[in-house]
Amino acid sequence: MIPFSPPHIDEKIINEVVAALKSGWITTGPRTKALEKLLVEYCGVPNVLCVNSASSGLELILRWFGIGPGDEVVVPAYTYTASAEVAVHCGARLVMVDVNDDFLISVDNIRKAITEKTKAIVPVDIAGYPCDYDAIMDLVKSDEVRAKFQPRGERQQQLGRPLVMSDAAHSLGGWYKGRRTGSLADVTVFSFHAVKNLTTAEGGAICLNLPEPFDCAATYKYLCTFSLHGQSKDALAKTQLGNWRYDVYETGYKCNMTDVAAAMGLVELPRYDAEILPRRKQIFEAYTAAFKDDGRFQIPEYDNGEKTTSYHVYALRLTDANESERDAVMQRIFEQGVSVNVHFIPLPLLTAYKNMGFRMEDYPTTYDNYSREISLPVYYDLTDDQVQEVIAAVRAAVPER
Ligand SMILES: *Cc1c(COP(=O)(O)O)cnc(C)c1O
Repeated sequence: MIPFSPPHIDEKIINEVVAALKSGWITTGPRTKALEKLLVEYCGVPNVLCVNSASSGLELILRWFGIGPGDEVVVPAYTYTASAEVAVHCGARLVMVDVNDDFLISVDNIRKAITEKTKAIVPVDIAGYPCDYDAIMDLVKSDEVRAKFQPRGERQQQLGRPLVMSDAAHSLGGWYKGRRTGSLADVTVFSFHAVKNLTTAEGGAICLNLPEPFDCAATYKYLCTFSLHGQSKDALAKTQLGNWRYDVYETGYKCNMTDVAAAMGLVELPRYDAEILPRRKQIFEAYTAAFKDDGRFQIPEYDNGEKTTSYHVYALRLTDANESERDAVMQRIFEQGVSVNVHFIPLPLLTAYKNMGFRMEDYPTTYDNYSREISLPVYYDLTDDQVQEVIAAVRAAVPER
């Protein structure tokens, strides 16, 4: 059986995790801070805060920005529930918009969705392919959008427009016009969940790239506290002899990364560009070579000269199939011992979002993309022979035209 996306665990990672366990310090400490520094260099942003998941990072930022009841947050209909649920947790109203053929949020649709109540836009780099950030940033900075914006609280006043918070759960290592993901929006959140390109089992990172007059270093310090109960000292500081007294400035959250988790990232990130991404790219290229001239398939766009994917998900589509035909094709692939997947079931098809009144008919491109999509296995340890097995299984599963 060929699995879909097992984590990349080798002796080096095991040894570094064991070293963290033996070090006497297992929660947030030197390894987490070292990983943050590596991410700052990697992404070219002023500050990065590591957290225990992308979901908690996304929510922490919405709460930091003061988003609550009466506010609207714009999200694509084509994403994972995490991108949207965080706005619901804050009490905001979700505004869902349709995507383009490339799976990414439509900037035109964002423009149409912005109202006086819009406080944040959440573009999602589906499959690792960056959204059109220049167009999105130009839109939110336009006079028209600024004029509509009705700030509540000091941070919203300082920004003077909706916050652009990139859900980059898939796109660590992606490029857009010579810049890395992480540096393309006001704030970007990566995921290091077990199925992602780089994993710390569970984990995430918040990249701060806030414009003037924000002080990213001060915001980073604030978020360190806000992600740790709002407490004046972290556990490491309190271990200093006699340094026991603490205060709690506000009722904060609890979503810090542990050093055991950071140990995995400390091994993986330094070899990510040299080893991990090139292997993923080879697998993408093998799939593209196999399917590009076969009329039964539509290959995904992942490099258009201006931007490049992080090679997270190979989102193949059947040229003409409805949802149940696609499901049948997947079943025939499974029967040949190959795990495939669908990224994603659109939010309006899920009970929680149906109950909020969202209807699939309102997002035709999202539905069309979803109904024909099959994600193929891509991971570092997938061998060339296995790639050929996947290709053969997919070809055999789709009727000749
Ligand atoms: C995985 C994922 C998340 C959530 O990541 P966690 O680290 O598991 O919280 C958010 N958005 C998208 C698009 C994802 O695929």
